[in-house]
Amino acid sequence: PFDLLVVGGGPAGAAAAIYSARKGIRTGVVADRFGGQTLDTMSIENFVSVKETEGPKFAAALEQHVKTYDVDIINLQRAEKLIPATVDNPLTEVKLASGATLKAKTIILATGARWREVNVPGEQKYRNQGVAYCPHCDGPLFKGKRVAVIGGGNSGVEAAIDLAGIVAHVTLLEFGAELRADAVLQRKLRSLNNVTVHTSAQTTEITGDGKRVNGIAFKDLTSGEAKHVELEGVFVQIGLVPNTEWLKGTLELSRHGEIIVDARGQTSLPGIFAAGDVTTVPFKQIVIAVGEGAKAALSAFDHLIRT
Ligand code: FAD
Repeated sequence: PFDLLVVGGGPAGAAAAIYSARKGIRTGVVADRFGGQTLDTMSIENFVSVKETEGPKFAAALEQHVKTYDVDIINLQRAEKLIPATVDNPLTEVKLASGATLKAKTIILATGARWREVNVPGEQKYRNQGVAYCPHCDGPLFKGKRVAVIGGGNSGVEAAIDLAGIVAHVTLLEFGAELRADAVLQRKLRSLNNVTVHTSAQTTEITGDGKRVNGIAFKDLTSGEAKHVELEGVFVQIGLVPNTEWLKGTLELSRHGEIIVDARGQTSLPGIFAAGDVTTVPFKQIVIAVGEGAKAALSAFDHLIRT
């Protein structure tokens, strides 16, 4: 069995594996797709100490770094079930889609998250060509341009406020009759003179010239009218979905489905830790996931030497 098994091979999982291996304990990483969300990222400009890199390059570097240590990497394998340790069986089991079972004394869950998509024509075609999901990451790429934000919840309104300080103009589209963000955010949003808000607005298409986004089409649900706004970018902000479907019923999740962790990365189950976008830790960023992964590994090591 492993002393520490990491489930997930994104920034959080890679950092956890490196910190664990450096303690000289038997470490494994099982990942559906080593690299995680960074594989889908164009340019990364906010990983401190690396001025600029590309997602796939960053993902390859993560894997190379992990491979310089004695870590068993089990790639292209999906975990389907977590069976926590009991008094009779002191090892936690992770069942894989392939039918195999991995056993470990401690576990770090780092299965990340995925952005919820609007599923309209143009979204896939212009992904990274004007369609973006992360204002902290991609906002500066739209400096001085016009953008739309889809979603009027806290993340959408925060994104609109954030982007309004960088871009020329923001159009915010909310499907419902009213914005769902906190009142204080809504007040701030309404005070900005380069933001237009459309409620009861159903996005129907992200339009483009074949290469890049050139506008957004929506239906005004009150009048039934079809509308189109010319712009250069669209930020989809309708939720980040944590990859925890396979964990439901085993450990404590927040109402958004995130794994609840304390300041040490400890979950509701002893010996099981979690890190990165899959957890309740706020702000989903690479540099944060890496730090949380390292922290969870040190917590797991601490747990091992005490038991
Ligand atoms: P992830 O990267 O999501 O990795 C999760 C890992 O778990 C993957 O290996 C996945 O295959 C695996 N996994 C999931 N489910 C299972 C399962 N059941 N069994 C086995 N393995 C599983 N952040 C920045 O800081 N800067 C940026 O510029 C930036 N740009 C971004 C652009 C895009 C398009 C996207 C989508 C995200 C961007 N982010 C950026 C966010 C950043 O990518 C994430 O915060 C970060 O990758 C989170 O790391 P993680 O390890 O927690 O999860």
